[in-house]
Amino acid sequence: MFGSTPVCVVLSMDFCNLYHMSTSGDADVSSPVLSGVPVVAGVRYAPVVRPGRPPSDDDDPTAAPADPSAEDERFRAAVTAVAARLRDRATRTAGPAAEVLTATATLAEDRAWLGAADKRIGAGLPAERAVREAVAQFTDLFTKMGGLMAERVTDLQDIRDRVVAELRGLPEPGVPLPDVPSILCAEDLAPADTAGLDPALVVGLATSRGGPTSHTAIIARQLGIPCVVAVGGLDVVPAGEMVLIDGTAGTVTVAPDPSAAADAVTNAQRADEQTARWSGPGATADGHPVGILVNVADGAAARAARRTPAEGVGLFRTELCFLDRDTEPTVDEQAQIYGEVLEAFAGRKVVIRTLDAGSDKPLGFAGQPEEPNPALGVRGIRIARDNPGLLDHQLAGIAAAADATGNQPWVMAPMIATAEEAREFAAAVWRYGMTPGVMVEVPAAALLADRILEHVEFLSIGTNDLAQYTMAADRMSADLAALTDPWQPAVLALVAAAARAGGAVGKPVGVCGEAAADPLLACVLVGLGVTSLSAASAAIGRVGAKLAEVSRTQCEEAADAVLACAGAAEARTAARAILG
Ligand code: PEP
Ligand code: MG
Repeated sequence: MFGSTPVCVVLSMDFCNLYHMSTSGDADVSSPVLSGVPVVAGVRYAPVVRPGRPPSDDDDPTAAPADPSAEDERFRAAVTAVAARLRDRATRTAGPAAEVLTATATLAEDRAWLGAADKRIGAGLPAERAVREAVAQFTDLFTKMGGLMAERVTDLQDIRDRVVAELRGLPEPGVPLPDVPSILCAEDLAPADTAGLDPALVVGLATSRGGPTSHTAIIARQLGIPCVVAVGGLDVVPAGEMVLIDGTAGTVTVAPDPSAAADAVTNAQRADEQTARWSGPGATADGHPVGILVNVADGAAARAARRTPAEGVGLFRTELCFLDRDTEPTVDEQAQIYGEVLEAFAGRKVVIRTLDAGSDKPLGFAGQPEEPNPALGVRGIRIARDNPGLLDHQLAGIAAAADATGNQPWVMAPMIATAEEAREFAAAVWRYGMTPGVMVEVPAAALLADRILEHVEFLSIGTNDLAQYTMAADRMSADLAALTDPWQPAVLALVAAAARAGGAVGKPVGVCGEAAADPLLACVLVGLGVTSLSAASAAIGRVGAKLAEVSRTQCEEAADAVLACAGAAEARTAARAILG
């Protein structure tokens, strides 16, 4: 469809301009290659699937229906269609996903809310408005009741959006469950959406927004789904179009030649098989040991990560377990969730990070204030200031999980900016008999790492936020992706400062930000003095295999070369010249 004139008729001017720019003027034979920022390596060829947006109430009909009983029939038919679709999907999936779909279908047909909507339609409201009002009645009530009932609020709102979309003849909102393996293309995705993706059906992920360290990117890494973000021109590629996504080159090719696309997939698979042969433990070619650890979001991710050569967990992002919660999980619930990760890595190192709520990961129960600039606001450890119970309950949950599993984790705090914060956090962790550490994500913490290390046993550098705060560039901004590039020498100078401080007192300094997932940059980090690298499962093999190819001296030479550079591109080239 893209090879001839009609493309400009059916698609926007933006796409046409992009198309002509990226095909070197030969619009008749080439396919448009859209460029973005590579996030998860891997090449896949599949049709595009797109999430539907929740229908806005601005477009709901306002006039009273001429025949309320016909309107009620229209409403009931929409509910039946939505529930049937959910049940049909449940039969085509398995495990917890099937249970969730069946439960949602049952809730869609719940008599209480259907009755509330019927009543409003009978009183003359159009079905769309009746649905919104009836759902609001129950969500208000459930929110007030709190606990498990409050958790149904999101489910009911999801049903509301599906029923209204059905009434208005719009595509189903949310991330669809495709019938065939597909490439999910979206403007951006909420962490809760991406967390539920099935990697067997969503085989590629491309977004037009978001940076390489956005949480969409992080979860794509977690699931090992090839991913490219900040892809210009992506929003006009329609659902159903065949695309070739290349998560290494950072490209999305629209309607490529099918046999060339199949060859590209086969070649990439061959390269993957080579890295799959690396079996650990982490070390340079001349035997300098480097811990290769994995980042996980929950027990399921940890169990999957046990199939990689990862020696332990370097970052357990606990807040990702609770993104859909409006109420604080109990200590027992938390203990059970953390215990799953400790059990998956029994007898091995596990670093648990306390809740990093705020900014792009708001937690309903964290009591965060409305702020004009949340990335610089009350997030991470700062939440504990006004809400010390939250931290204490979490530490109690972690300690209980440690007792139950016999695996003693290290515990670290996000967003530490001062030695005083580190001291207070360490005291709280010691009270539970656990080993405290902190993340280095704020430049102040890197600059004063020696003073922070007087209080804690280890540092873990979060290069995603460290880049954001060093370069004063929002990590979510596609426009600023070049600034939040972890190859920026200013960011690496701060990594060097923190690693030096750790080396001086013999305390470990790891990197758990996305920089550790880039095999070349991982070698540079080792040259800077970093003692462990923690990355998503999908990156473990590539990072370990690359490190095993180079000597410690090469890593150190590359680190020196990079620190002498003026920019990220120059730094990459300098490192490549030394590390291959
Ligand atoms: C980081 O900032 O590098 C980090 C690991 O934390 P998160 O990405 O969860 O903010
Ligand atoms: Mg961070």
